[in-house]
Amino acid sequence: MKTDTQLISALPPEGRRGLRLPFFLVRNWLFLMPLLMLFFSERLYPRPPAAPSLRLEDMPHLPLKQVKRLLVIAPHPDDETLGTGGAIQAALAQGSQVKIIIVTNGDGQAVAPLLLRREIRPRPGNYIATGQQRQAEALAALKILGVPQDSVFFLGYPDRGLIRLWENHWNREQPLHAAYTWATRSPYPLTFNPQSAYCGYDLLADLWAIIDDYRPDLLLSPHPNDKHADHQATAHFTRLALALKRVAEPAYQPATLSYLIHYGHYPQPRGLHPTQTLLPPTPLAGAGKGWTRLDLAPDQVQVKARAIQDFPSQQLLLGSFLTSFVRRDEIFANLPLPDISPVKADKLAPFETEQLLQPLPEAVGVV
Ligand SMILES: [Zn+2]
Repeated sequence: MKTDTQLISALPPEGRRGLRLPFFLVRNWLFLMPLLMLFFSERLYPRPPAAPSLRLEDMPHLPLKQVKRLLVIAPHPDDETLGTGGAIQAALAQGSQVKIIIVTNGDGQAVAPLLLRREIRPRPGNYIATGQQRQAEALAALKILGVPQDSVFFLGYPDRGLIRLWENHWNREQPLHAAYTWATRSPYPLTFNPQSAYCGYDLLADLWAIIDDYRPDLLLSPHPNDKHADHQATAHFTRLALALKRVAEPAYQPATLSYLIHYGHYPQPRGLHPTQTLLPPTPLAGAGKGWTRLDLAPDQVQVKARAIQDFPSQQLLLGSFLTSFVRRDEIFANLPLPDISPVKADKLAPFETEQLLQPLPEAVGVV
């Protein structure tokens, strides 16, 4: 039997011409080859993690002992458990109060209705159902950590929309239309302030109201350099609220620390490594200044691991990323708050009357 090569070479000249690839296609393939190799090599041979420039023993301990009221601010249901699940347990164990703010219900994961409910063409109601599921998951996880439901505030702002509130939607007259739920205010029964519209002023006012009433002495909120835009925006809103509060009431100086969730390949290695240390990624490690650590007892690590198991929707979507936060320590960055002069802080009044057309961060000099 003849091979394919023999058959081709036996064809008349016209036939052989017919099998040739056009030159432009060959040229384009040659052009694409390096790109394809780059694409697949990234998947087959992931870049090794950058060596952390800090050692655990270089970082001072989180000063948790004097804390009476801890407030954790999370952009999505699960961030509070991943970033601060150990700190929450440690604070409760020493008798401190703990309250949690969850800014969005995580209803903006495009594929979630398909993966969780097999909704091929999801409607706004399907995304709201996902948000309700994620609320329930967060409450179950926090219950394992020791936090009751009445200590959890769901603000109900739009997932993947917070940076747009910060940059473009400050006024109630121009609320954001959420891309997935189509809502302009929280459609969830479990919402801290159902009257709040999807705008920067109302998000800032909700944060302000909880901080003002609860008066935490330690806040744990996202790192402003987190790569997820919702985390950045949550950091900006929280830090602006605290900076304005500091001007309005100089005697109130709560400690404010940041936790990191999304940053390239962080945390490395991926997966469950409960005896390994969690260290800051090299670009953010600096000279070690500003980072503190909280060492967790083995039983606290186990409880945190169990709480993370209570996010089945996110286990399905993010897999081993979640369990990568089960480590023998948690780390927090101490970053200075924006400096707002008292003169500029007078612009806070429009924040209450909602007359200001200029975004508040620009008005008070924080951009
Ligand atoms: Zn998040």
